[in-house]
Amino acid sequence: NVKVNSDIEIAQNAKMIPIIKIAEQLGLSEDDIELYGKYKAKLSSETINKLQTKQSGKIILVTAINPTPAGEGKSTVTVGLGDALHKLHKKVMIALREPSLGPTMGIKGGATGGGYAQVLPMEDINLHFTGDFHAITTANNALAALIDNHLQQGNELKIDQRRIVWKRAVDLNDRALRKVIVGLGGPLQGVPREDGFDITVASEIMAVLCLASNLHDFKRRLANMVIAYNYNKQPVTVGDLGVEGALTLLLKDAINPNLVQTIEHTPTLVHGGPFANIAHGCNSVIATTTASKLADYVVTEAGFGADLGAEKFLNIKARVAGFKPEAVVIVATIRALKMHGGISKNDLGKENIEALVNGFDNLRKHAETINSFGLPFVVAINKFVSDTEQEVKTLLELCEKHQFPVELTEVWEKGGEGGLALAKRVLQEIDKNEANFSPLYPLSDSIEEKITTIVQTVYGGKNVEFSTKAKKQIADFEAFGWGNLPICIAKTQYSLSDDPGKLGRPTDFTVTVRELKPSIGAGFIVALTGDVMTMPGLPKAPAALKMDVDENGKAIGLF
Ligand code: ADP
Repeated sequence: NVKVNSDIEIAQNAKMIPIIKIAEQLGLSEDDIELYGKYKAKLSSETINKLQTKQSGKIILVTAINPTPAGEGKSTVTVGLGDALHKLHKKVMIALREPSLGPTMGIKGGATGGGYAQVLPMEDINLHFTGDFHAITTANNALAALIDNHLQQGNELKIDQRRIVWKRAVDLNDRALRKVIVGLGGPLQGVPREDGFDITVASEIMAVLCLASNLHDFKRRLANMVIAYNYNKQPVTVGDLGVEGALTLLLKDAINPNLVQTIEHTPTLVHGGPFANIAHGCNSVIATTTASKLADYVVTEAGFGADLGAEKFLNIKARVAGFKPEAVVIVATIRALKMHGGISKNDLGKENIEALVNGFDNLRKHAETINSFGLPFVVAINKFVSDTEQEVKTLLELCEKHQFPVELTEVWEKGGEGGLALAKRVLQEIDKNEANFSPLYPLSDSIEEKITTIVQTVYGGKNVEFSTKAKKQIADFEAFGWGNLPICIAKTQYSLSDDPGKLGRPTDFTVTVRELKPSIGAGFIVALTGDVMTMPGLPKAPAALKMDVDENGKAIGLF
């Protein structure tokens, strides 16, 4: 029985090289970066602007089948694939999201890859890192304070205090703050009203930061954010309040991507981390674009399965940024496929070929989806020690039968070495030059049409039902001139449908859109299906119970 090291033990035993050396690998000098200690740096604004005219490298998107609650190893495979390309002497960069502190303290643990495919320094990235999330929290709450002050000082904009949609934010899972009353205590303490907190990653500012193409565009988007409705039920924006300049100022450093390295010293940008339900779940456009200017290949990922993250990457982020991705990697695990084949969570460790065969349909649907965007894909089987030889053989055969390019990856166990076959296969697919990407719907389609396209083409559903409220909102939004924005669907990640209990490949289902939410700064309309949590809670035994720090300041228990 060999002891398996935890992610944090592996990360702490790894030897980093100074970040300046990583920058040099990319052809950058000390003047191009702003050091945050020895192993973290931000790229400078001047350097980012200067790079814009350079030719772009090829973008590889990593996505997955519908996951189990534990995650299927998308980040792990993203890092491992980057390391493998690095090992093959390709000029490569990885672009990842920054983890949110709330879930880290809860059940998720870190989110910087796993095993020998990790980004470092893992403690920093999972905790305060370079302060971007704190800056976003501060900007979010500065805006909230300015709104309340506007009410206090006479409310010139005639904001209806019952219709303020801008909430406060904190980067924690804190259910007690979901609904609060502010302004209590009499005339000098403000105007009493109902308010609430979202987790920072659900703040629209996070989505704006991740979709902005530069500082100027960032400010424009911040100005467009809707904060409330007035007594005539017309939208009131940050621009109306006149504070977009102050918010941009608070975020001027946060907008620059953070340079770090993997265990194998592959250069990596970790930047931004919007929720994958209420927002689009991808790292920033600025980071992905910059990576593509500095490297020939960029490996990046999008949250949850291909029905959520990849769909939004391709329909929202790629469209906004003008990316033409070259290939997609679909991560699948045998345990998740068995779950889609009807096996309960507790039995996933036992061999079950029948369940695997039945669950394969889930992977098939995602493969079809990627093809419908005109993109080639490679299935990456993220191998777990519990997978049996027979199961691996069966899955490889199923993929071959359906002519899916497929490779087994063992990056968690072996780092880049375990991803060489996948890397070579992805390069082969790219070299065929068959990618012909286009988003699934034109922006000129109506809001209903765009949602219906996603439900039918990506989820495989029959149709969409709109609540009375949603129908009224659609009419209002079109009247406000918001009809031409892309759609960001908030949906359970566990199922292709809006019912988390429907695993595998459900057919013939109807998706119900309960409500819409305008994220006009980010530049999309959120369609809410089912209940969506914008402030998570903590579980009975949060991960925080295992965390500690030794007398030398070394982190313990961060997974
Ligand atoms: P996702 O990005 O899909 O949420 P992650 O890459 O963050 O998933 O991985 C989730 C967890 O699973 C991490 O703790 C990681 O160490 C672990 N993990 C990933 N791949 C493997 C594997 N092949 N074997 C064992 N554990 C793994």
